[in-house]
Amino acid sequence: MIQLIRGFKDILPGEIDIWQQIEGTASALFEDFGFKEIRIPVMERTELFARSIGEDTDIVEKEMYTFPDRKGDLITLRPEATASIVRAYIQHRMYAVDSVQKFYTIGPMFRRERPQKGRYRQFYQINAEVFGVASPLIDVQLIFILMTLLNRLDVTDVQAHINSLGCPECRPNYRQALAEFLVKLDDRLCADCRRRRERNPLRVLDCKVPSCREALTDAPSILDHLCDDCRQDFDTVQTALDRLGIVFLTDKRLVRGLDYYTRTTFEIQTGALGAQSAVAGGGRYDGLVKMLDGPDTPATGFAIGLDRLAEIVGQKKAAAEKPPILFAAALGDEGQQQAFQWVSRWCDQGLRAEMDFGGRSLKSQMKRADKLGAAYVMIIGDNELVEGVVILRNMKTGEQVRIAVEEVVEKVGEIISGS
Ligand code: AMP
Repeated sequence: MIQLIRGFKDILPGEIDIWQQIEGTASALFEDFGFKEIRIPVMERTELFARSIGEDTDIVEKEMYTFPDRKGDLITLRPEATASIVRAYIQHRMYAVDSVQKFYTIGPMFRRERPQKGRYRQFYQINAEVFGVASPLIDVQLIFILMTLLNRLDVTDVQAHINSLGCPECRPNYRQALAEFLVKLDDRLCADCRRRRERNPLRVLDCKVPSCREALTDAPSILDHLCDDCRQDFDTVQTALDRLGIVFLTDKRLVRGLDYYTRTTFEIQTGALGAQSAVAGGGRYDGLVKMLDGPDTPATGFAIGLDRLAEIVGQKKAAAEKPPILFAAALGDEGQQQAFQWVSRWCDQGLRAEMDFGGRSLKSQMKRADKLGAAYVMIIGDNELVEGVVILRNMKTGEQVRIAVEEVVEKVGEIISGS
């Protein structure tokens, strides 16, 4: 038997209503905040991700699904959405339409990470991106949107972590201080960190190896190296979060796994998921549009891990399947034909109706209705049809009523909507 690829998964009908609930809640919220949906392809030229996410990151070094297509062009299954949205923004000159643009998108991402609970090789993200706003208040608004979404989904065990990664003015000083600190840790760092230590020391802060994390406890904090503008910007973020009543934690280790971030970065963490505590993450990436050959444009955004969020929401609500409201148990050819007409009409009218297409005995059809949890069963027998009636049975009370065939559509609607 052919099985799923490791790290990939099916989302089965029993789980899907939670996904739809999350996606619906998120889309409605985004629309209220002026975001427009954008859909981008799942594959891009490898260069797009290599340049934007950064050559020294785990994603680009180890995790991308990259392969030559049949003409030999190197392409990659997208590991994240921001780079593609920036590409689309530049390619379609969207900055010329409006100086401020807000987008959201929902879809699968691909990273060849070590699969475990909450970490998959195909996973889903909900992304939001804002272009053209330099004010740090928009970063706060993004955090507010995230917290509001989680709140609407009844996810309460969450904590906002924030940090600033500085700007091209002040980050070099911090890099220098961090590199000097890392020199002293040589034998305590993993091979990747020893290699990255000089090329890209901030990446060391992001290493997942426990011994590296421990060795970095006393690493210098970027917050002590911010220039005046970045400091003021970060103060504004904290004050605005306070005024919105959002409780947050300043986390000097929060550098995120992608190189393009500047200034505010944030992550929403939860205790509900065990080891994979990050439900969402994001931050400002003011240099990226220009780096990808677009106009100099401030930008900021976030990504929510939809798989993880669905797990949390699912823990709270065991997915209750919607029972069909009405099961048409039909006997005989004419009964089947009539049931088929009505069931099709009812479904079209938004009434959940089911029937058995196998022409089985009344007993086995009643069993099936029971299994589906039908609230009502309509018995449509050849004999009754000759008399011009059908029987409607309330499965909870056992009460049965006879309804004239010509009144079925109208009466059934009345009875069921009144129940
Ligand atoms: P990132 O793009 O790495 O900042 O990730 C943003 C969010 O996506 C994280 O907070 C996770 O919730 C989710 N995420 C990232 N990688 C994975 C993965 N391999 N499997 C499931 N969710 C993931």
